[in-house]
Amino acid sequence: MAKLKILVAPDPLLKQKAHPVTEVTDEIRTILDDMLETMYAAPGIGLAATQVGIDKRLVVMDLANTEEGEEPAPMKFINPEIISLSEEEAVLEEGCLSVPEFYEDVIRPAKCKVKALNENGEEFITEGEGLLAACLQHEIDHLDGELFIDHLSRVKRAMIIKKLIKIKKHQTVKM
Ligand SMILES: [Zn+2]
Repeated sequence: MAKLKILVAPDPLLKQKAHPVTEVTDEIRTILDDMLETMYAAPGIGLAATQVGIDKRLVVMDLANTEEGEEPAPMKFINPEIISLSEEEAVLEEGCLSVPEFYEDVIRPAKCKVKALNENGEEFITEGEGLLAACLQHEIDHLDGELFIDHLSRVKRAMIIKKLIKIKKHQTVKM
């Protein structure tokens, strides 16, 4: 397995819409494992291929609270697609590995149903609410070139991007 580099906003690659996987091969399974390793190391609870510069519709997640003694529960989604969203909405404070250090309340549909392929190329459906629903929508947004800050006001988004640019510039002069 290999750890991948996580892109940080603003980055044009994060704005791209990823292409569907046409065949579930060993290469795809390896990418999913590398993405999980990268996500655990970060650490994060979800990661989309777009965030590591891979143009494929792949998402990994693990919502287990291992600090509270829960067993890791890795989830892998190939070509995830939202098939239904609730009218009811919910607010959750979200963060993102591509928008480090910023956490903001995001309003989204409270429940969602997602169709995807598993590692064997078989279709499955996941239905969730709460953190699972928010995380699924957040990660699928990534595959469509959207970040959680795109759900915020234009002013707030501009402020966060400005600060991220400042941090990036600072990092490039560090020796
Ligand atoms: Zn994210």
